[in-house]
Amino acid sequence: MMRTKKKTYCAFCGKEIRWIRDKSSGKSVPVEPRCMCFIPDPNGQQIFIGLDGGARRGREVQDGLIGYHRHNCAMMPCHTILSDKEARNRCWA
Ligand SMILES: [Zn+2]
Repeated sequence: MMRTKKKTYCAFCGKEIRWIRDKSSGKSVPVEPRCMCFIPDPNGQQIFIGLDGGARRGREVQDGLIGYHRHNCAMMPCHTILSDKEARNRCWA
């Protein structure tokens, strides 16, 4: 019997996700399990989460940096990541 790598599922919607640790904040970011290639582009239409957990605007290409789409969960109280950052910004304001 084939054993595949242990999968992670979103606790809120039950979809398969991956976690990428954001090196700058130490928080883990939920992303879609499928990785893709992108190049950073300030005019890009999409946001990619790089392997270092940093979010970059860019566009999808055949060959480039490895990135993931953030898991935008409809079921998740999805303000957690942003509001933490906002709260910290407010702390320092
Ligand atoms: Zn979800």
